[in-house]
Amino acid sequence: MRKILTVFLTICFLTGFSFSVLGGGLDNTDPRYPLREYRRFMLPNQMKVMLISDPTLQRGAASLTVGVGSMSDPAERFGLAHFLEHMLFLGTEKYPDEGSYQKFVSTHDGFSNAYTADDRTNYHFEVDPDFFEEGLERFSQFFLTPLFNQELVEREIKAVDSEHSKNIPNDYRRIFQVKRKAFEKGHPARHFATGTMETLEGVSREELLSFYNKHYSSNQMMLAVAGPQNLDTLQALVVPRFVAVKNRNLLEKRVSPKFMKRDPRFRLMRVKTIKDSRSLTLMFPLSRTLHYYKSQPLGMLGFLLGHEGQGSLLSLLKSANLATGLSAGGGASNKSFSSFDVKIQLTPKGLRNYSKVIRHVFQYLRLLRKTGLPRYVFDEVKQMSEIDYRFAEKPEGTSLVNVFSTLLMYYPMRTLEIDPYIITEFKPRIFDSLLYSLIPENMLAILAARDVKTTEKEEFYGVEYSLTYSHPKWINK
Ligand SMILES: [Zn+2]
Repeated sequence: MRKILTVFLTICFLTGFSFSVLGGGLDNTDPRYPLREYRRFMLPNQMKVMLISDPTLQRGAASLTVGVGSMSDPAERFGLAHFLEHMLFLGTEKYPDEGSYQKFVSTHDGFSNAYTADDRTNYHFEVDPDFFEEGLERFSQFFLTPLFNQELVEREIKAVDSEHSKNIPNDYRRIFQVKRKAFEKGHPARHFATGTMETLEGVSREELLSFYNKHYSSNQMMLAVAGPQNLDTLQALVVPRFVAVKNRNLLEKRVSPKFMKRDPRFRLMRVKTIKDSRSLTLMFPLSRTLHYYKSQPLGMLGFLLGHEGQGSLLSLLKSANLATGLSAGGGASNKSFSSFDVKIQLTPKGLRNYSKVIRHVFQYLRLLRKTGLPRYVFDEVKQMSEIDYRFAEKPEGTSLVNVFSTLLMYYPMRTLEIDPYIITEFKPRIFDSLLYSLIPENMLAILAARDVKTTEKEEFYGVEYSLTYSHPKWINK
């Protein structure tokens, strides 16, 4: 016990944090912003709560993350989690009028929004601090008594459909979607997330309620609330409202980490873009890596591969007139799986000679395997992480609370404002094990440009693509 305490106090000392247990929670200040105070606690219904008090804040803001997203959509109902997110805004038992919440926030100098990701759904708003209490009262009702008014379903499906239509010309989204064609059949990571008129046709109130009752539970909710009020006042605003949210004792959602299995063949996806751009992305699927936050091996790998100086991969590609830019780092990341992505902007010559580019990447990876993770690289990246953390812009309003409600989902509550940012552990073995996963058998190459040859058409975005398999022997030559 004493040892644990010593370690804990050392961490506090090193990071300049001081903790004290007050009001049943854990309070501390942020040394970067002296007036900012944090309090974190768990409600009796196991909802995780983070309060941020700062007299300089101009807005009251709240963000609630629910640990369910589009990967939980039923296979025959793509877009249901997202559609529910839309419907949740449109009336509660206490405030049944569909437009009343939006009207309230906009009349009081605020705004509200929400989003659905693959593993979570987030709701947030900010408002004039004098009206924060009413804002929280209205916001909390979404998680207590939503109406899911059947009369609004048709109209809202049209709204979701038009949201999807607006996304159609977006190359980033197109590539994101078509990439899923290479994922394991039946894996939820293949789901189309937004939803359309077709996928949502005939959704009933009962269907929405059943999804809500199945997946919305206080023990899978993370709430962050910020305002100029002091911590005790914020706590008094939050606790009575959110303690009433039902705890269904749901298990944390996990899916198979194998969203793309190894394949002895080289997998190449050619994707036709709308814009005149040329890129090659090498995606390496990995199991969960979030828990390596203390040593950030993917950040280290990204730093080494994305390095731009002399002797770097990019300088080699540039000198051969194959590429104009390169970035590398963690891609997808959730509690079940992750990926490491290397994205290269190609020249016209690079597009024609993409196999040469791939060979150079693997030459560089072989070199890294010989050297391992040098201590000086670790020290440099660690130092950069500390500087970035120290001089990070001071977030406010919804951008402040959105970060915290997301971090509450992934990191230990006690130190979540530091953990994801500051590297503390040198773990060359973890680095090596990930480096050894970056092999042709564990890779999808995506070649995206306006003039690539394709054979197929993806059904939601109409993306033209082809997915081919070939022998990978040439890669390591
Ligand atoms: Zn939407």
